[in-house]
Amino acid sequence: MMPIRAYIYCANFVLPTGDTVLSIAPVITIFGRHATGCKYAGDEFCKRCDCRKHFRWTKDGKQYRQKAGTRSWEEAEELKRQLLVYWIIILHLANE
Ligand SMILES: [Zn+2]
Repeated sequence: MMPIRAYIYCANFVLPTGDTVLSIAPVITIFGRHATGCKYAGDEFCKRCDCRKHFRWTKDGKQYRQKAGTRSWEEAEELKRQLLVYWIIILHLANE
């Protein structure tokens, strides 16, 4: 995992366009897809059940969804951070 200091550095990295990486990286939202019969169905941001977690984000006006591959909200948060780091790397490369 990337050290948090490097992550903050990358997120605040100013691109030649004047934007920071964080300002143009997509905002990734975690949500749960509840199993049939889950008592938290209806609340897609519920952190208490162990139903499958997914990510969604919008880029260039298009909505993307991806399985987080975990049932733990905490683990999804960690993966989300890694996904953001991945975007940061892509943006770095695109602006080199
Ligand atoms: Zn659930």
